[in-house]
Order: sequence, then C-alpha cells, then structure tokens
Amino acid sequence: MSSVKPEDHFKNIISHCKEYGYIFPSSEIYDGMSAVYDYGQNGAELKKNIREYWWKSMVQMHENIVGIDAAIFMHPTTWKASGHVDAFNDPLIDNKDSKKRYRADVLIEEHVAKIEDKINKEVEKAAKRFENFDVAMFRSTNARVLEYQKKIEEINARFKNAMEANDLAEVRQIIVDCEIVDPISGTRNWTDVRQFNLMFSTQLGSVSEEASTVYLRPETAQGIFVNYLNVQKTGRMKIPFGIAQTGKAFRNEIVARQFIFRMREFEQMEMQFFVRPGTEMEWYEYWKKARLNWHLVLGLGADKYRYHDHIKLAHYANAACDIEHQFPFGFKELEGIHSRTDFDLKQHEQYSGKKLQYFDPELNQSYVPYVVETSVGLDRLFLSVMSSAYKEEVLEGGDTRVVLGLPPALAPFKAAIFPLIKKDGLPELAEKIMTDLKFDHMVTYDEKDTVGKRYRRQDAIGTPYCITVDHQSLEDQTVTIRHRDSMEQERVAISQLNSILTAKTSLKSLLSQL
Ligand code: ATP
Repeated sequence: MSSVKPEDHFKNIISHCKEYGYIFPSSEIYDGMSAVYDYGQNGAELKKNIREYWWKSMVQMHENIVGIDAAIFMHPTTWKASGHVDAFNDPLIDNKDSKKRYRADVLIEEHVAKIEDKINKEVEKAAKRFENFDVAMFRSTNARVLEYQKKIEEINARFKNAMEANDLAEVRQIIVDCEIVDPISGTRNWTDVRQFNLMFSTQLGSVSEEASTVYLRPETAQGIFVNYLNVQKTGRMKIPFGIAQTGKAFRNEIVARQFIFRMREFEQMEMQFFVRPGTEMEWYEYWKKARLNWHLVLGLGADKYRYHDHIKLAHYANAACDIEHQFPFGFKELEGIHSRTDFDLKQHEQYSGKKLQYFDPELNQSYVPYVVETSVGLDRLFLSVMSSAYKEEVLEGGDTRVVLGLPPALAPFKAAIFPLIKKDGLPELAEKIMTDLKFDHMVTYDEKDTVGKRYRRQDAIGTPYCITVDHQSLEDQTVTIRHRDSMEQERVAISQLNSILTAKTSLKSLLSQL
C-alpha cells in the first residue's frame, strides 16, 4: 500500500472520478458550477446500481413496503405544513473584507471544535507524562481542561438560547465575543446575521400576477406523507407498512463543498414506516440496526461506520440518530434514522382539512400513525463507496496500480472481455462471448494495447473480472478469468462464465446477506 496524505488522497479520488468517467463538474465547458456535478458513463451505472440495491432491499425484500415516485413540484401549502417555509433556514453572516458568506452556526461550531482540540492536546500531553494515566480523572480535575470545558458549555448554551429565541443579534455577538476571524481575510469585520431559507422557489404558470410561487422539494419525504392515504387504501396496506421513494431534492446550500458530499441538487432515498403509536421505539431500533447492516454488507470495512445518537432532538422527533461514515475528511453523516411521531401527518391533516388516519381492526380504533423514517443521500453514499474503494497500491517489484475495489454487484461493468491479440479469430470468439453475456450482465470489450494495460484500465474502473480469450480458447472452449483484487487468474469453461458472473456480481449476492 502506498502512503498518501489524507488531503492528497481526497484530491486523487476527485481527479480519478473525472478521469474515469464517474463524475464531471456540471457544464464544465463554461467553467462549471459550484456544488453541481454530472455523473458520467461509469458514474451513472454505479449510482443506478446503488439505487437498485437500496430499492430492492426495501421494496422487493419486504412484503409490507411499497415504492412510489412523486413529483418534484408539490402544492405550496405542503411546505407550510411541513415547516419548511418558516423554519428551513440557515443563519448567515458575511465578512465585509473578504466578501465571503458563512453559516454562523458553522463558524461557532468550528470554534468550539478548536477548543475541543486544545483539550485533546492537553490530554495527550499528560498521557505521555504519566503512567497509568486516567483520562476521565484528568478531564475532571485539570484546571486548564476545566476552563476550556466551561468555555465550550457557555458558548453552546448561549448559541442554543439565541437560536431558540431567534435572536440573530446575539448570534453575531457570540461570533464577536469568541473573536472568530474570517479564515480568508483574517479580519473580524462581520455583517449582521440573517436567516436564509434553503428552498429554491420558482413561478408556476405564465409570468403574470396569477403565477404562483412553487418550490423545488428540499426532501422527498413530503411526497410520501401526502400520498399516505392513497397508498394505504389502494394497496390495502396494513400497519406496520412502509412507503419508499428515491428522487431529486434541492437545497440552496450556502457552504456547499467537499465534492458531492453537500450539493445543491442531490438525490435522496427515503422510506417512511407507518406504525401503531406506542410501538415506534421498537421500530426505530429495528431500522437503526437494519440500515447499518445494509451498509456493512457492502464490505467496505465495519470500522468505517458508526452511530451518532442525537441529543438535541427536533421538536417533532422522539428519537433520532445518524449513521456516520468515515469520509476522507472525517466521520460525517451518511444517513439519518428518525422517529418523527405523528407530526407530519397531523400537520397535513390540519392544513388540508383531510383526515389522514388508519383504522386498526385489531384495536377497533382509528388513529394517525406514527412514523419512523430512514433517509440517505444517494450522492453521499456514492462518495462513501467511491472513497472506500479507491486504492493506490504498490505491487511486488515496485509497480503501482490504482484499483477501485467496488463491491462487484455495484461495479459499472461486471466483466471486460479481451482477445489476447487482434487476429487468428480471437476477436471473433471474444465478441461472441460478449454477445452471449450481455443479455444478463453489463460487460465491455477491449482489444487495444497490451493485456497488462487493459487490466490496469479495468482495475481503475473497478471491473471485478477480466476474461481473456487466447489460442487455447479456440481449441478447448476455455478462457482465463482474472480477479481484480487478488489479480489471480484461473482457467474456466466459456459455458460457465454466465453462472460465475451471476453468482459473484448480481445484487442477490448482497441482498442474501441482509
Ligand atoms: P446535513 O446535516 O449534512 O446538512 P441533514 O441533517 O440536513 O444533513 P437530512 O435532511 O436528514 O440531512 O437529509 C437526509 C440525508 O440526505 C442526509 O443524511 C444526507 O445523506 C442527504 N443530504 C442532505 N443534504 C444533502 C446535500 N446538500 N447534498 C447531498 N446529500 C445531502
């Protein structure tokens, strides 16, 4: 393995994504657009396969979960009811010298993180000095650590109170009192803090007075809530049951960065699970486990995932956690699991004047169901898969290779087929194999350059198998199949190829482990 610095590692992944047709900056010929990306020929395949793994695991594998595809535009009242019009805001502040805009909450959080770093350094220093070092004891008695800790608590409490009271002047004052400087200009010349709504709006209809403001949905969940009764009735669904959906969501993120981690246009995969009130904690625990397991089955490393339970809950939630993934820039939220009570359906009942209830024949009683939701960003998942799969290897003899160790079921191509040389009837046999396989598998054909170079190209794309047709193939109908990760080769009958690929690369290989 080569030792690459973390910041270079991330840069290398981004350029690899571009070089191998995974992700391009959007409208690049016009210099691109910040936080908007296009998926290329291989990226679209990988993304589709991840989506399919999610969809099948939810809809095909659960008799009580169905999928829908709601429109991106929704009646504007939806977003009043959901709380997005009034409360889907980020507090923003500008630095007058650099003219850069920041999220005030992020500036404060980063400041707190710096103080936490100082505590950790004190702990590390002391741990080196003393044998049998007791971290908890040190943290609760060391004067400097206690001082830092007090500072953090003060800042957090002030910030929490200010946000709850929507006191933006106080939020600014915290930034001033903490002496936070703009990382670009190095000055403390800050504007006032303003609330900024994250929803994109546009006009529906002609550009006249009648045209009404509509929003591009900032989450897919509301499309599920407004269709709850339609699905329940037409699907004769019995509680507990789920509705799944994948689709685009849009947020006017101010601090959009870290490649496809935070985008302005992204895709979500959400499932709302409707349950009997009082059973929601059981289901919350169930989905928490089930969703972590779904990620683990990808085989990218169990140590790369962890739970982060929310301590501060949104007013409508009675439990919430994130599944975090270790991205090249640290552990960050990948997926959220939320127990949302009956908040959303009740809000929609209130704003629409329609009953959104369920008659429970076992209880002989009607109620608004409680909801446990699982919500994951497809693009973030893509980045988690890509960044864990990307490896720069130094091979025996000093040779190097870049290999994408993608889970075979997610790889854009399952196999590449090569004739050893471009004559003697080898291309014809290779093409015949390709034609036979392509009904069942995504396969590709390559006859350019040496076989070694062709192997490297497929390694970089993440193709799990390379099938080479040589002169022996003409005689005994066998080929070599080379494994991407071990680089080992074995000879197999051409007639076995289809079943080998099915066993090793179909989604069943993942779904059967759930
Ligand atoms: P964050 O705290 O990172 O802004 P969030 O808590 O607002 O995320 P949710 O509203 O719970 O996120 O959305 C569910 C999932 O959608 C997230 O876990 C993430 O995977 C994905 N997601 C949210 N915002 C973005 C974005 N701007 N770009 C890409 N994916 C996103």
